[in-house]
Amino acid sequence: MNNLNKFVFTFGDKKAEGDALMKDLLGGKGANLCEMNLLGVPVPPGFTITTEMCKVYLKEGKEKVLQMIKTEVENAIIHIEKLMGSEFANSSNPCLISVRSGSRASMPGMMDTILNLGLNDEAVEGLIKKTGNERFVWDSYRRFVQMYGGVVLGIKSQAKEDRDPFEEIIDQLKEEKGVTLDTEFTSSDLKEMVRRFKTAVKESTHNDFPSDPWEQLWGAISAVFDSWMNERAIYYRELNNIPKEWGTAVNIQAMVFGNMGLNSATGVAFTRDASTGENLFNGEYLINAQGEDVVAGIRTPQQITVAGSKRWAKLTGISEKVRARDFSSLEETMPEIFKELIEIETKLEKHYKDMQDIEFTIQDGKLWLLQTRNAKRTAAAMVKIAIDMYEENLLDEKTAIMRVEPNKLDELLHPIFDKKAIKSAKVLAQGLPASPGAATGQIVFFADDAEEWSKNDHKIILVRIETSPEDLKGMFVAEGILTARGGMTSHAAVVARGMGKCCVSGADNLKINYKARTVEINGLTLKEGDWISINGSTGEVYEGKIGTTEAVLNEDFDKLMTMASKHSRMDVRTNADTPQDALIARNFGAKGIGLCRTEHMFFEGVKIKAMREMILADDENGRRIALAKLLPMQRKDFEDVFEVMDGLPVTIRLLDPPLHEFVPHEEENQKEMAKEMGISIKAVIDKVASLHEFNPMLGHRGCRLGNTYPEISEMQARAIIEAAMNLRAKGIKTHPEIMIPLTGTLNEMLLQEKIVRDTFETVFAERNDRIEYLVGTMIEVPRAALVADKIAESAEFFSFGTNDLTQMTFGYSRDDAGRFLPLYLKKGILKFDPFQILDQEGVGQLIDMAVKKGLSTRPNLKIGICGEHGGEPSSIEFCHSIGMDYVSCSPFRVPIARLAAAQAAIKEVMEFEKNVHNIDIKKESENKTHPIALIA
Ligand code: PEP
Ligand code: MG
Repeated sequence: MNNLNKFVFTFGDKKAEGDALMKDLLGGKGANLCEMNLLGVPVPPGFTITTEMCKVYLKEGKEKVLQMIKTEVENAIIHIEKLMGSEFANSSNPCLISVRSGSRASMPGMMDTILNLGLNDEAVEGLIKKTGNERFVWDSYRRFVQMYGGVVLGIKSQAKEDRDPFEEIIDQLKEEKGVTLDTEFTSSDLKEMVRRFKTAVKESTHNDFPSDPWEQLWGAISAVFDSWMNERAIYYRELNNIPKEWGTAVNIQAMVFGNMGLNSATGVAFTRDASTGENLFNGEYLINAQGEDVVAGIRTPQQITVAGSKRWAKLTGISEKVRARDFSSLEETMPEIFKELIEIETKLEKHYKDMQDIEFTIQDGKLWLLQTRNAKRTAAAMVKIAIDMYEENLLDEKTAIMRVEPNKLDELLHPIFDKKAIKSAKVLAQGLPASPGAATGQIVFFADDAEEWSKNDHKIILVRIETSPEDLKGMFVAEGILTARGGMTSHAAVVARGMGKCCVSGADNLKINYKARTVEINGLTLKEGDWISINGSTGEVYEGKIGTTEAVLNEDFDKLMTMASKHSRMDVRTNADTPQDALIARNFGAKGIGLCRTEHMFFEGVKIKAMREMILADDENGRRIALAKLLPMQRKDFEDVFEVMDGLPVTIRLLDPPLHEFVPHEEENQKEMAKEMGISIKAVIDKVASLHEFNPMLGHRGCRLGNTYPEISEMQARAIIEAAMNLRAKGIKTHPEIMIPLTGTLNEMLLQEKIVRDTFETVFAERNDRIEYLVGTMIEVPRAALVADKIAESAEFFSFGTNDLTQMTFGYSRDDAGRFLPLYLKKGILKFDPFQILDQEGVGQLIDMAVKKGLSTRPNLKIGICGEHGGEPSSIEFCHSIGMDYVSCSPFRVPIARLAAAQAAIKEVMEFEKNVHNIDIKKESENKTHPIALIA
């Protein structure tokens, strides 16, 4: 059977039908379960149903899939039975199994899992006989009914204020039995619980809880496939750009039990610190528990290492005596198992050459690994681990660079609390530092409210007892997340880290009342809308609003940036209109300004007045008088920017937007303007009306302005060159590049070029000196791309204005696309927003053509991009591939662009090396004489 009609892959006993390279087919979890077997790591035997079956399931339905996989699944179950020495659906010696999801990309907690499958009233008796542990068996049974009821039979709370119906039953039973902890229930309490659960199932579904293990199994497989399309999975995929087409695999494995008594446990561990990146093995475990207990945050987990345990105790204010007695580490409670775990984690990290996130279970003194995957981590940890692993010789430089996700660097640039403000701030509570950063906002308790509040521009902190995947949207829009329960591996902590969101978890002196929408912290009652602040790096919760300051970048970040520069071919410039922005960008390593939008320089104070005077003028003479007032102000603006960019090129774009943007449209402001200008309100209203355009984006803007009012371009050209020469006199080097906006024909360009060059020559003559400069254009109009060879006769450089080019290629107005784009994305009409991610298929063709045509006329044409796409990694890769010289982006995206530019170059080299290698192999095999040929 080849892989095309094989739908089930088995693993177990150090053998496997798949390996780590088969992630697309087996999902990340399935592929790694195979790989761990091949590495000799103890893994419960099992099998994986491929992602291909998920695709069939979604297209052709459940019956078709069950028919296709039936025989293979039955044989794979026999494979598990043989290795476990027990039998599925046999009540005297039952083999229990788990059914889990697992897609190509990790989607933690987004899809469904069912544990302890195979149990029914008869199997319970058999298992009790076999294990002699009645309580454990009933505990497993009640968990199974609860999970299966929720996941497969869909029995859930109806309203957001309601509790889960099964949890409701548990609480009621606790009250009746006078106990507070789950662990205090006796076997007969658990038996009663199962009875009540089943009654709840019957009431809700009008059917008995399924007792046939095979029926249970097919139901669970279908539920896992269904969970690929549940709301939270869809939302998570949208957030993380995971294609719907990938589908999930289903992993079925023999159960091992961490709840078999005090010699059993379950845990989650990281080979390094997921928050800071330090090379410290760490994690959490719970004795006598099943996996979901650790992540659900219902019991407080214990730390794995002694050092971690002591650090945790200090943070939570627990004395060493209490720690050692009630919360001792795995290293202390099970030293032999701990040793084995260390050996395995070291082996896994070395093998995968990346930080691993592992799940394990200890069943009656034997260690089993349930999962390993590349761990999610904060941006700081991501950078540190890449640099450390390079310095530890685990990774080469190129691979280390490729390990860092450019967009995630954004997180490092997040603000921290203002040092002064924090000194006087009042600490209300202490939780765990689950995800670093500082956040301040208004308290909101529910995810849907969080969405509403954030739409109205409120900054919010989502405060929950614990979070679940249902809260994802609320977490995404929040500034930060605060939970009363849960450890460092709780849902809130893991998801927040993945999102780069500040999070404090497990602040257990928070008493949250969802109904009243209040939280009581040490006697202080805060209500919805009150301000709090949280520090995700220390776990502190503060009263009120606290100011924040920009993040400080560390040595590892610098090392990464230096490494990136070494490997990239393209430069990264910045889009900046002020000396402040230019300085930030320069400090981030920008190699020049790729776009200085001069219109932004006219908006403030006196400048807007002179600008309006120019717009109100009736003739050229009037305009020239106003422009003369603007000249010194423009010159000063350019001097300031040139000074910061000393020695680096600065591309200045001549005025672009339509003039009506500079005049007021509300009556109130028009009156004010009339007063200020000493003219009648009617004159203002008439002028505004005369400037009205039906579609200003396609109207009197860009070089159309400069060609109809040449004096504007003339003033700007003079301001630029005078500023440059003034600075040169002070010893500051300038490289001005004058950029003509929105060119569509060669004549438009020629006219503007002439104005610029003539003005420059006049100034050179006046000063008896010269300066080097370039005159080029933006390519923003599709026609400019089509006739780029002609335009290059005049333009010395091209800078692709992909904001406008996208607008005009798609015919989507930049200002109005928000009305339909979200729906287009939701319906899958578009796969991504083309204003954020460059449409390589369409707009990309125009760019590629323009580059080729431009170079055919002018081989040394300088080419860059300055639309928003210049800071977006996949678009940067495209710009590299078609041979651009630079990308230009907003200052805070400069580090992201630098890394993305390096990755684009490295990918190209790696691709090339791979092809050369393949050619070598082909040649080698061609050179060998085939034995058949010899016989012939
Ligand atoms: C562009 O169109 O891509 C561009 C950079 O210009 P603006 O956004 O100012 O129109
Ligand atoms: Mg533009």
